[in-house]
Amino acid sequence: MSEKLSFVSPTANSPWGTYLSQVDRVVPYLGPLARWVETLKRPKRALIVDVPIEMDDGRIAHYEGYRVQHNMSRGPGKGGVRFHPDVTLEEVMALSAWMTIKTAAVNLPYGGAKGGIRVDPKKLSQNELEKITRRYTSEIGIIIGPHTDIPAPDVNTNGQIMAWMMDTYSMNTGGTATGVVTGKPLHLGGSLGRVKATGRGVFVTGREAARRLGLDLRGARIAVQGFGNVGSVAAELFAEAGAKIVAVQDHTGTIVNSNGLDLATLIPIANKDGVIAFKGGDVVPNEAFWDTACDILIPAALEGQITAERAQKTTAKLVLEGANGPTVPTADDILAERGVLVVPDVICNAGGVTVSYFEWVQDFSSFFWDEDEINVRLDRIMMNALNQIWDTADKHKITLRTATYAVACERILMARQERGLYP
Ligand code: NAD
Repeated sequence: MSEKLSFVSPTANSPWGTYLSQVDRVVPYLGPLARWVETLKRPKRALIVDVPIEMDDGRIAHYEGYRVQHNMSRGPGKGGVRFHPDVTLEEVMALSAWMTIKTAAVNLPYGGAKGGIRVDPKKLSQNELEKITRRYTSEIGIIIGPHTDIPAPDVNTNGQIMAWMMDTYSMNTGGTATGVVTGKPLHLGGSLGRVKATGRGVFVTGREAARRLGLDLRGARIAVQGFGNVGSVAAELFAEAGAKIVAVQDHTGTIVNSNGLDLATLIPIANKDGVIAFKGGDVVPNEAFWDTACDILIPAALEGQITAERAQKTTAKLVLEGANGPTVPTADDILAERGVLVVPDVICNAGGVTVSYFEWVQDFSSFFWDEDEINVRLDRIMMNALNQIWDTADKHKITLRTATYAVACERILMARQERGLYP
């Protein structure tokens, strides 16, 4: 009955194609709610904006930006903003859809949204970065707001960028709207625990998955792709629990050390110059990362990294998806056939949006919690969600990913059905 979306042509392994195939796999478990499933296959709203700025050398440069609100059946849109040269409308659509699934999987009162600008921020001065952030915020200001759509950090965006976004929105609306973005600095209504929340969620879900697999974290060998906010924090927490980080890859290259990399020295160096500037490991070709001997693999960079070929050669018994959409559907099938357990992105990396939710609640009540309270609540939400998903997976004998989609899609489509179609 429905027309195909005219503005995307997804391939099987593209982010939107991956998402659509994940939704198709859940349909048999939706019962009568399946009649609503098309609502998950198209974004509610997608905005493309021109972002012109004057560069430091006087040139006028134009960038393309997006904000996609995939689904708001359960609450305001929620999702990060990515600054990266590969950002496209299709990628942002997929990322926004994964946010819809994720917020429902951990039962937060949000829908899903995402934004981005196609730009390499490493080539911008601080002044240019501020200008591009403010103009982009102003352009998407017609659809974001504390009660409609609340952005947050993602790849290459951070607390400073959230502070500029909050200030720009506030200047345009005539107040101080701290609740318009999350991931803000602490003194601007940010929350304790937010910076480490995503990595912490990866650790909490990974520790539980390892326990269920009978995999001892002490001495477990871990390979981490992407060593930014998510990857480095997760690595630190696993190392504290006794694991060895044997391989790390970022945009500069790959380093390995079978005795375990010294994270206290590596992290500040990686933050400044990238992992290959670190001398405590061997630099190897990027493709060698995927067959490094390891027990746990943590993709924490970009989408589409675990291809069928890489899924075939990994030695990991457990994959913890810190990144969004790192595994293409064919690779998912190979990992399942090979008995490799995958904790999917939509639960594994949900710690960030969970503490973003705490931040938003604290902003509205103007009452701030201590870090212990944040972490206790975060761990409880993540564990409850994971246990429920695990029960669903056991009941239907399906993967954790399909089980997460089953739990989440039921919540989303039930909300859609109860609200009814307008008009
Ligand atoms: P970040 O910008 O802090 O770090 C990204 C890392 O990926 C960097 O180490 C970068 O060098 C590396 N990278 C980039 N391109 C690469 C490539 N081609 N090959 C290998 N490494 C590459 O970003 P982040 O916030 O840590 O986000 C990482 C992933 O986690 C993304 O998929 C993001 O959507 C997801 N995520 C982030 C959050 C969050 O709270 N920050 C929450 C949920 C999911």
